[in-house]
Amino acid sequence: MPELPEVEVVKKSLDKKIKKLVINDVIILNKNLRYKIETKKFLKLKKTKIISIKRRSKYLLVNLSNKLTILVHLGMTGKFFIIDQNKKKYKTSFYYSLSENDDKHDHLVIHFNKHIKLIYNDVRKFGFIKLLNSKELLNSSHLKYLGPEPLSKNFNLIYFINYVKKLKTSIKDLLMNQKFVSGLGNIYCNEILFKSKINPRKTVNKLKRLDLINLIKNTKIILKNSISLGGSSIKDFSNADGKNGNFQQKFNVYGREKNNCLTKGCSGVIKKIYVSNRSTFFCSYCQK
Ligand SMILES: [Zn+2]
Repeated sequence: MPELPEVEVVKKSLDKKIKKLVINDVIILNKNLRYKIETKKFLKLKKTKIISIKRRSKYLLVNLSNKLTILVHLGMTGKFFIIDQNKKKYKTSFYYSLSENDDKHDHLVIHFNKHIKLIYNDVRKFGFIKLLNSKELLNSSHLKYLGPEPLSKNFNLIYFINYVKKLKTSIKDLLMNQKFVSGLGNIYCNEILFKSKINPRKTVNKLKRLDLINLIKNTKIILKNSISLGGSSIKDFSNADGKNGNFQQKFNVYGREKNNCLTKGCSGVIKKIYVSNRSTFFCSYCQK
């Protein structure tokens, strides 16, 4: 499932490839995504220009010259591909390879000027694409209740201290809570807790000030690192085998059940438990 870094990488790719282009046509091949694509509404896309591409949490926001915004969530398997004027196909993220692309799961194709095409492909169809005006965007339940971006200055120690004061939830659940901080998913929460040497089940009101400092610091480091690993493949994201910049291979705790702990000097073995029904990996020796 794409988490914040992947969505950020897709955003950067789209920014590089489709910004300032004008939409000539939109072909909806299958409108049955998580929410039905409003076919009629999408006619409004014709002749509009792509002004900017932003990310909020795991959502992409494509802002158009007619003041409308295309809101996209990639769900579990949503992917964008770009076909350039020479009919060369590009992926927009380092997480998947071009060879994985199966045309029968292409759901929407946007034709731009300069003979460039953007394809939305989604095998499991949990993603969605909505067209919203600025008021709808502001009131969108997808965005309205999101907490601060983890890489922003608003995600800081004072915010964290005030938020956890009276809370008795586990730290893993808190990090997963999009109202507290937006965009973190199961993989990154596991990694952040491992790097911060904190037990995922620990209740947040028992965390020390230093724990909170470490959590904030490590959240930012891990996300930035992952984005920059993907960033290196953006330079040539036509690479078909997708082997460069694959953060998935660099997990320190996620998916490493029964393997030795990677913390220096620790003789622990990674355990798998469930916290709120989500698989949680940790080392009981060094994560206290
Ligand atoms: Zn350990």
